[in-house]
Amino acid sequence: MTLKGDDKTMETVQCNSCDNPIVFDEDAIEGEVIVCPICGAEYEVKIEDGSPILVELVLEGEDWGE
Ligand SMILES: [Zn+2]
Repeated sequence: MTLKGDDKTMETVQCNSCDNPIVFDEDAIEGEVIVCPICGAEYEVKIEDGSPILVELVLEGEDWGE
């Protein structure tokens, strides 16, 4: 029996910035960066208790002004 396909588990988190659900692959690699398709917020994948979670990436964009 050939069952192609969709046995992958997808995880969903809610974007902190726009509340849009972000879907990502359960096989995501730790350290992988996932970008919210709606608002562009960036998240990094962390593995916690064997399950991937998304942690918001805080970009240090210091604006010193010029
Ligand atoms: Zn978003």
